[in-house]
Amino acid sequence: MLGRGLRKEFPNPKRIGCPGAEVLKKIASRKMPLSEAEVWLDHLGSCSPCYGDFSKFREASQRGRKQALLAIAASILLVGTVAGWALLRNWNENLSTQTATLDLRNRSVARGAETNPDEQPLELPRAAKNLKIFLPLGSGEGPYDVRIVTPSGEELAGSSGTAKLNDHVDSLQLVLTLDSLRPGKYLLQIRRPESEWISYPLVLR
Ligand SMILES: [Zn+2]
Repeated sequence: MLGRGLRKEFPNPKRIGCPGAEVLKKIASRKMPLSEAEVWLDHLGSCSPCYGDFSKFREASQRGRKQALLAIAASILLVGTVAGWALLRNWNENLSTQTATLDLRNRSVARGAETNPDEQPLELPRAAKNLKIFLPLGSGEGPYDVRIVTPSGEELAGSSGTAKLNDHVDSLQLVLTLDSLRPGKYLLQIRRPESEWISYPLVLR
């Protein structure tokens, strides 16, 4: 109400005593310190053309500020999205190189350290950490020990896990750190606790 009245009630067609558009713009956009602007406030309150200009400048300045804020918000959002996407992709790649599946379902079973020489060895990348092992049919759920030994039987890595029936397959998931081992031929051995080891030829890449 006050603003509307001010806009009409103090006509000043000759603009006597007016500070000029630049000063009004500075006051409207708050670029002028209050101590400097103070001397013009009385005039603004008693000169309708100046008050009208001041109101226009203030609206424009607020619009500009809003647009700048929107632009900043949009760029923050964009940076965040790109960073998040890169992070997720990195994480996915890491996860997929670290996870390996060993399928023992159609492997012949040899007790102790003996293996079938005609059989293709299992292969594992040394970057693999999370192992998923499909156990031979009929193995059953429950705890299992897994280890990697040299052909002469020296244990280099070992872990334990619990097999669960998944899609009609007893599968065992465990963490085994292999990256300190050298590439080459090994044996993967699996047993139920306190039972005899069952060996599978294994090549670490
Ligand atoms: Zn004026």
